[in-house]
Amino acid sequence: MQRFTCECGNVLFFNSSKCLGCGNAVAYDPAKNLMVRLLPEKKMKRCANGVKHGVCNWALPAEAKESLCPACTMNRTIPDLSTGRNLMLWGRMEIAKRRLIYTLMQLGIPLQAKAQNAQTGLAFDIISTVANPTVTTGHLNGVITVNLEEADDTYRQINRQQLGENSRTLLGHFRHESGHYFWQRCLSNLMWDDPLRLAFRERFGNEWMDYAAALSGHYQRGIVPGWELQYISSYAASHPWEDWAETWAHYLQIVDGLGTCENLGIQVKHLALPLVMLPGEAGTLPSMLPQNGLADGEFLAWLQRWMCMSTVLNEVSLSLGEPAVYPFVISVRVAQKLRLAHYFAQVWKTPAAKPAEPPLPPPAPVPQP
Ligand SMILES: [Zn+2]
Ligand SMILES: [Zn+2]
Ligand SMILES: [Zn+2]
Repeated sequence: MQRFTCECGNVLFFNSSKCLGCGNAVAYDPAKNLMVRLLPEKKMKRCANGVKHGVCNWALPAEAKESLCPACTMNRTIPDLSTGRNLMLWGRMEIAKRRLIYTLMQLGIPLQAKAQNAQTGLAFDIISTVANPTVTTGHLNGVITVNLEEADDTYRQINRQQLGENSRTLLGHFRHESGHYFWQRCLSNLMWDDPLRLAFRERFGNEWMDYAAALSGHYQRGIVPGWELQYISSYAASHPWEDWAETWAHYLQIVDGLGTCENLGIQVKHLALPLVMLPGEAGTLPSMLPQNGLADGEFLAWLQRWMCMSTVLNEVSLSLGEPAVYPFVISVRVAQKLRLAHYFAQVWKTPAAKPAEPPLPPPAPVPQP
């Protein structure tokens, strides 16, 4: 997350709706990626979900015929708002959802609402299991469903403990389900032997594996010891699709976490801690993709900055009497999966996408005997 300032010079945050320096109402303008003061001359209006329900701080042009911001336009179903509790939980959901959308926008990945593009657009159903007991969090054909009750901290912690998870957050849910969405939108329709698909299989395994059987097997077996060497979470071991969704979610988490630190001016000097350095092969792409040593090295340096930064964050958290904020281990295999997620993010940047990484230089001539 970047650093925002008000035109008065005061620091603002992504969720700010009022500047405490000048007292003006402010909102985030997703088109310009900055915070604006909602003054008449700015010709901007607050999203209707902010005006009516206080759950959104995004703005759109005053003359726009739409009343909802791009993030709220993606809502297909919102909770029953007849109770104050549901409104409070929905507000938490929207905060997490906007962060996901912000990160995807920063990565330059085009994103449309399903209402605008039925084929490849994205929609959200935010539904409580109290009213609809059969609802489960998941993704299907461009619709991400999230159980509103997950926004209740107690409910979520009970689930986290029962499932033996290190971490369970609303933002993590949105990031994870976006991984399923991008799999379907960008990978599932590629030819069987497309290099991207082969690379996916090389890193994550055979995606044609029976999904329902894999998941029920996972829940019967419980947590497999030693999963940390291969996977970012124990759940990722259940099926290649889940491994991908967990890896993609983790990639977005590092993009956002490290970005926030560095944009706010926190830099970890490499000598400040005994930094665990991953070997070079941790940052390489599968062999069927174009190889680029420079891009691999940049990725690895980025990942190692995060490993150092997250160690510091954990120490700070423990100093405050709280559990470690980043209870994850990046193994070589996990780093290779994250490298592929990073590559995919480059490929998906624009519709006519090419990886940002330059093609390989021509091979050096081989001396003939
Ligand atoms: Zn201000
Ligand atoms: Zn909105
Ligand atoms: Zn999943």
